[in-house]
Amino acid sequence: MLDYTVHNYMEDIIKNLVKEMLRERPDVCDCDTCYWDICALVLNRIKPQYLEIETNIQKLSPFMLNRLRNLVLDAMVLVANNARPYHGKDQTVTIQLQNLSEPLVRRILTEMSETNEFLRENKESLPVIAAMILNQLEPRYAVTDRGGAYLRARELELQFLPSIMSKVYNVVKQFQG
Ligand SMILES: [Zn+2]
Repeated sequence: MLDYTVHNYMEDIIKNLVKEMLRERPDVCDCDTCYWDICALVLNRIKPQYLEIETNIQKLSPFMLNRLRNLVLDAMVLVANNARPYHGKDQTVTIQLQNLSEPLVRRILTEMSETNEFLRENKESLPVIAAMILNQLEPRYAVTDRGGAYLRARELELQFLPSIMSKVYNVVKQFQG
């Protein structure tokens, strides 16, 4: 697998906003499972930002902040109504929040690099190439343990591969000039 790091900066904004709003709402469960479920729901409904942006909540426009707060409120209601049966009780499973499009793009770029000289010789461009691709893909956040995320990424692959592949090709072509 190609080795590069990508980060959706919206994750920072949403994690902080959800934490802040959970403090205002003692009636909503704030265990790890519910917290990550709320974050995942919100992140799947907003455009990802894999190229660096302002992440300080205080610096967001009132319009943007209001929109995000409403999405968090909706997600809180959904998670409260569909609480996982063992939420907050199973400490043995390490859960993580992950955009399943990330491992998928990494696999596609890795396979492409076997025949694409440009990708092999411009490794320093990989984080930006991957970020530009991920900005164009719909986010597919899931709260999973590591094994689960891998399985779901395989399922997604079959379903969305053709449209994802064409976006990957376009971005790489753009870089090759
Ligand atoms: Zn909970």
